[in-house]
Amino acid sequence: SLRLKDKSTIVTGSSSGIGLAITKAFLREGATVLGVDQSSAPAEIATASGFRELQIDLTATNAADQVIAAAIGGHGAIDVLVNNAGIGNSRPILDTSDEDLNRYLQVNLAAPFALSRATIRVMKGRGGAIINIASAFGVLGVTRASAYAATKAGLAGLTRQLAAEYGRDGIRVNAIAPGLIATPLVRERIDNNPWFRRSMIEDCPLGRPGRPEEIAEACAFLASDASSFVSGIVMPVDGGWSST
Ligand code: NAD
Repeated sequence: SLRLKDKSTIVTGSSSGIGLAITKAFLREGATVLGVDQSSAPAEIATASGFRELQIDLTATNAADQVIAAAIGGHGAIDVLVNNAGIGNSRPILDTSDEDLNRYLQVNLAAPFALSRATIRVMKGRGGAIINIASAFGVLGVTRASAYAATKAGLAGLTRQLAAEYGRDGIRVNAIAPGLIATPLVRERIDNNPWFRRSMIEDCPLGRPGRPEEIAEACAFLASDASSFVSGIVMPVDGGWSST
């Protein structure tokens, strides 16, 4: 049976990579999806039944209110929010300017914060699930990821905090900490950066990068009633990388 039948969901960063895989998995499991991305949705989902698109920069003023209005207008409710949109590829701290840091904070932390707040206003009293896509880099110390790791660790802290605050309202809040996932951006780093390849693939127990669909599976579980007693966790989906 369909695990997300008739659930009204919001997925940010739905036009590419992990967010696109989550969107496809949610649609396949019977959910309606409001995809939110600054880039337009690729043809494979744009015309799918149950999918609607809001093209917006999530760091813009009032972006969260626009997302909520679009979700409520389309489906009358919000059952699931996935904060997936993010930017990666950060640098050593000595090469990271305040402007760089600020952009990471805006996209990876402030935007999910604002959208979670706006969503909880709607979910309060009727329940729901929020899933934040964090990172293994926000859990373990790796080099060359200072700004990125700081924002993802912040997102994990926000996850635990909101789970504690809103559990009584039937709202479950969880995060996924993906290891290396072979999205187009990352493939280029695997090919051109021997350090990256060694630390992320050769040191990974499963010895390979993950696929976006493998994050989408974990996300579907956390969005579904199968995880009804799971809240406040940061679930590694990383081929065992963070356990070594
Ligand atoms: P991606 O670049 O392929 O997709 C990100 C999407 O988010 C894009 O479609 C982009 O347009 C959108 N986006 C970015 N900034 C936005 C903004 N300000 N407003 C609206 N949309 C915006 O990246 P991905 O690899 O699929 O990563 C998705 C998430 O997973 C990110 O949060 C990333 O940090 C996290 N993550 C990725 C990996 C990996 O190895 N790929 C590992 C750990 C965590």
